[in-house]
Amino acid sequence: MMIGFIGTGNMGHPMLRNLIKAGNKVIAFDRSQSALQSVVTVGGAMASSQKEAVMDAEIVITMLPAGEDVRAVYGSHDGVIATASNDTILIDCSTIDVENARAVAKEAAARGLDMLDAPVSGGVAGAEAGTLTFMVGGSAEVLNRARSVLEAMGKNIVHAGASGSGQAAKLCNNMMLGISMISISEAFTMGQKLGLNPQTLFDIVSTASGSCWALQNHLPIPGIVETAASNRGFRAGFAVAMMAKDLRLAQLAAESVDASTPLGSTAAALYTSFEDSGNQDLDYSAVIKLIAEQPR
Ligand code: NAD
Repeated sequence: MMIGFIGTGNMGHPMLRNLIKAGNKVIAFDRSQSALQSVVTVGGAMASSQKEAVMDAEIVITMLPAGEDVRAVYGSHDGVIATASNDTILIDCSTIDVENARAVAKEAAARGLDMLDAPVSGGVAGAEAGTLTFMVGGSAEVLNRARSVLEAMGKNIVHAGASGSGQAAKLCNNMMLGISMISISEAFTMGQKLGLNPQTLFDIVSTASGSCWALQNHLPIPGIVETAASNRGFRAGFAVAMMAKDLRLAQLAAESVDASTPLGSTAAALYTSFEDSGNQDLDYSAVIKLIAEQPR
């Protein structure tokens, strides 16, 4: 399969490497030259423009930061929708708001193009291992045509419903993840103050009812969980800016349907304040610093 890939950052790079490993041809574009150059090291081709990455592709995959980036990449006069050939399937794997996801899919449909929103869960480690979960919004028939490509990058491919439903599921998931990381940060900070050894606390709670995915994979205390960014000075991983964005998107989504999310709203405020104090590029697990430094 010939795949055009736009957005070769923390997630996009390992995702496209797995596409190549599975025998696909990948031509990639990123507005950052440094992000794009690494594509060649894993057997991909570098496009000199977005249009070049798109025009011969059977499938176009985008992995971009936010809704406005997705709108710009798909919707501009030389954007994906204007330049893709007629039977190309468009798949946006970025995490964005439901409204923009639906709007872009509608623009694609107006040109007769099939589009899926397919945000992922599993982080950089999941992208590297090819074990991501894809939450897919759009037609089930289109998903079936694109399934083998998603399977090259992920382990669980779940059809969430109509267009925008993948993003809705992703926002619910990340609201849970943000809240979980704050709860872990509070518990380990309090535990340490109570004289508990963090390794001992981890050994206990990781096999008890306090356990969760963030604890097992992204513990914000170094030297205990191998995959945690805390072992690498909180180098992202999943950046604070991304988590803050997702939590704000979750709040917008909650408001739009009048859903009560008291912890989701607190998590959005805490991550936004941590982001605003210059921590936007750290891994989201670094929020433990905010919790540890805050007066009671
Ligand atoms: P990133 O910032 O590392 O990568 C995004 C890339 O997109 C960058 O290289 C940037 O240069 C490029 N880009 C932005 N605008 C562009 C444009 N107009 N044209 C071409 N390239 C453009 O971000 P990431 O961590 O890879 O995350 C990407 C998406 O995946 C986000 O929506 C994020 O919320 C989601 N996500 C991230 C993780 C994670 O652990 N990092 C996990 C799940 C989902």
